[in-house]
Amino acid sequence: MSSPRTLVSRRTALRTVIAGAVGVGPLGCQSSGKSEVSTTRLRLAAENAAAKTCPVRFAGERFDQPHAKRDGRAFPQAQVSENVEIAIIGGGPSGLCALHALKGRDAVLLEKEDELGGNCTSDTWEGVTFSTGAAFFTAGDAALVELMRSIGAPPLPIEGGDVLVVGGEPFADFFGNGARRLPFEPSVRDAFRLSAERAEERRRQSRERELDVQSFSEFLRPYPAELRVFWDRFGASNWGATAEHTSARLGLSAYAWLRGEEEGRLSYPGGLGAAASALGAHLSATLAGQVRTSTFTHELTVEAGGRSVLVHTLSAGEPRTIRARRVIVAVPKFFAARMLPQLGAEQRAAMSAFRYAPYPVFNVCLNDVGPELAYDSWFLDAPFCDIIPADWVLFAGRGPKPRKTALTVYHPLLEGQRAQLLDDERLVQMSDDVVLHLDRHFPGLRGKVAETRVYRRGHALPLPAPGQLARAELASRTFGPIAFAHSDSRGDVSAFAGALRAAHRAIAELG
Ligand SMILES: Cc1cc2nc3c(=O)[nH]c(=O)nc-3n(C[C@H](O)[C@H](O)[C@H](O)COP(=O)(O)OP(=O)(O)OC[C@H]3O[C@@H](n4cnc5c(N)ncnc54)[C@H](O)[C@@H]3O)c2cc1C
Repeated sequence: MSSPRTLVSRRTALRTVIAGAVGVGPLGCQSSGKSEVSTTRLRLAAENAAAKTCPVRFAGERFDQPHAKRDGRAFPQAQVSENVEIAIIGGGPSGLCALHALKGRDAVLLEKEDELGGNCTSDTWEGVTFSTGAAFFTAGDAALVELMRSIGAPPLPIEGGDVLVVGGEPFADFFGNGARRLPFEPSVRDAFRLSAERAEERRRQSRERELDVQSFSEFLRPYPAELRVFWDRFGASNWGATAEHTSARLGLSAYAWLRGEEEGRLSYPGGLGAAASALGAHLSATLAGQVRTSTFTHELTVEAGGRSVLVHTLSAGEPRTIRARRVIVAVPKFFAARMLPQLGAEQRAAMSAFRYAPYPVFNVCLNDVGPELAYDSWFLDAPFCDIIPADWVLFAGRGPKPRKTALTVYHPLLEGQRAQLLDDERLVQMSDDVVLHLDRHFPGLRGKVAETRVYRRGHALPLPAPGQLARAELASRTFGPIAFAHSDSRGDVSAFAGALRAAHRAIAELG
């Protein structure tokens, strides 16, 4: 969120904070008291006075350099100016964990953004810290918990389970005993409970690889539509895919998470952005000069005999080339394929077949306390999937009142909707819809809204579609002196803990 505040065109607005200042408009938002007005808002206001919106600020990853690479632009290449033992490409959780594990070695980490953390970042409004991406990990992720403790950033426990919100009312344990209380027809209530039992049976009886090639939607076919709607939303929010595009392997195991079998959830104010940021700060402080941001890697060339790799970068816009004996690629596979022109056809095809969900995350900043029904509240009838009160990990719904708060709203899109992330007007509309729907469920909420922050994520979640396990294995094979560490390497749901495992695996493969 360190970008300059300027008035910009839609295409160049990608990483620009657009601050708007409007009085109380039709949505009843409270004025932010700031004096800048966004071009988007001016345009909307001119087109339709009734379309005035709550102030919206945009932030997110930079798309210009990756898009130029996608479109075949030739980047300038420089002479080698540095030799290192290991170069790590990507400063998300997997790259950070790799550098941490390589402490004491001659390693550098190269991140294209000016901020570390990838899909684990956070932001702050008026002293309220909120997540702009990943939310929590679990006590069962023991290696990750230990890593965070070892750097002086122990996580806090998250109290309580999730709820399903129907008609503004929260329903807990909705796949267990709570199913009996759901305000649905008896057949739907039974389906919630029975499907959970059958999922467990099916998981016990089947082999992982067998389930991986089947679609989760086949399992859901006999059940009423409400169940399918729930899983389409739970899947989209957690792993970027509706049931149809989810393997049965993943869908069936997700039942266990909701039955409360997931070991204690842990997080931070600001979600896992705080974890990545603590790890990044620790590495930057202890490994001076080894963590480099604003460094976009556009090509990797394996030199004759596979003894080294030329890492071609644009560092703060200037071409710079590093020779590394080994490379760990901790960026998503669809982009890894673009960086590596020498890759074999089979591995390239597997990488290019990966699918990713675009994923804007909205944070609705409130001048007072909003709904605090549970850590994560799920909706069947809203444009978004779920909401998390940003300070739940501190107060579990029992914080002082009044106080400023934020609601993190998870609003994944379908793959075909990716272009909407580049459309400011569309995002402003989506932001309005978010506020309107929240207000419908929780009357009076819109009067508390100070502003909304929208964080754009282009290829946020790798889809665990049927067959992804085999595709991921093929795509992640070590290529000469290059190993792959991104969290998309195993075909599982993308997670910080998986990023740590991927980093350790890549280091072991390189030896
Ligand atoms: C909305 C959302 C909610 C989530 N919730 C959770 C959750 O609750 N719990 C959980 O565990 N996980 C969650 N995740 C997933 C979690 O964020 C990811 O698993 C994690 O960020 C993966 O880390 P990574 O390093 O593998 O990849 P990424 O986070 O994708 O990081 C890759 C990094 O590489 C950089 N990069 C890309 N291309 C280049 C290049 N050419 N040159 C240099 N750098 C480059 C990127 O800028 C980025 O920093 C969520 C994700 C999203 C989007």
